[in-house]
Amino acid sequence: MRLQVLSSGSGGNSALVRAGEARVLVDAGLGLAELEARLETAGVPPPVGERSTLDHVLVTHGHLDHARSAGGIARKHRALLHGSEAMLSAPAFRRARRLSTLRVGAGAVLDEREGLSMSNVALPHDAHPTVAFRLEHSGRVAVILTDMGRPDEHVAKALRGAHVLVLEFNHDAQMLASGPYPAALKRRVAGDAGHLSNDQAARMLRWMASEHLHTLVLAHLSQHNNRPELALEAAHSTLEALGLAHVRVLVASQHEIGENLEV
Ligand SMILES: [Zn+2]
Ligand SMILES: [Zn+2]
Repeated sequence: MRLQVLSSGSGGNSALVRAGEARVLVDAGLGLAELEARLETAGVPPPVGERSTLDHVLVTHGHLDHARSAGGIARKHRALLHGSEAMLSAPAFRRARRLSTLRVGAGAVLDEREGLSMSNVALPHDAHPTVAFRLEHSGRVAVILTDMGRPDEHVAKALRGAHVLVLEFNHDAQMLASGPYPAALKRRVAGDAGHLSNDQAARMLRWMASEHLHTLVLAHLSQHNNRPELALEAAHSTLEALGLAHVRVLVASQHEIGENLEV
C-alpha cells in the first residue's frame, strides 16, 4: 500500500492511498481543478471512457477544507463516495453519482479483490460527525487523523499500530495565544472541539506509536499559528522518549504534493 498527501492545511486536505489496483482518496478539500491537477501529478489522470480512475472517496467530515470537491471528484473519476448520513445531503456531495453511507465507528471491506479494508473512529471536533480513517492492506496499516479538539486515549488506542501515521499538529499554543486571530477564533481552535496543538498531538503520538511505525507525517499545520520546526521538535522529542528515534518524520505541505510513501 502507498500513501501520498496531496494537500494539507486549512486551505484544503486530501490524501491518495493506493493498494494494488485499488485507489482511494481520503478527503477532497481543494477546489476541483486544483485537486484534479494534483491527482494528475500523482499519476491519476482523469478517466478516458467509462473506466473508474478512483474507486473510493472517503470524507472525514463536512468542513469545506475536507469536503469541498468530494462530489465533483467522485463524479469525475467515477468513484463511490463515502460520507456520514449528515454529509450526504450537503451541496458538496450532491454531485456524486454513487453514494455510500459511512457508519461511524464501524469497519468495511473497501476492495474484496485487493483485500483492502477500512475502519473509522469518531473524533471530538465541531463538525458532527468527524472521523479518523484506518486503512489496512496485506498486514500494513495507514492511519489519517486530523481535526481533533483534544487528545483522547480511547481514540488513540483504537488507532494504534500504524506503519504510516498522518497526524494533525495544528498549532503552537503560545503562537495561537499571541497571534493574529480574533479572540473567538482563538477560543474555537484551542477548544475541545477545535484542533490539536503540538503538545496535544505529541500526547496522541505517545499513545498511538508502536514498533510498527516507520513514517510519521505532521499534518494540518496552521500557517499563522505554527512553524514546522516547532511541530518537528515536538514529534522528534516524543519519538526519542519512546525509543523510536529511527521513525522518519515529514511535514505535509499545503502547496505541493508529498512523497509517495510505501506503507
Ligand atoms: Zn480541517
Ligand atoms: Zn474541521
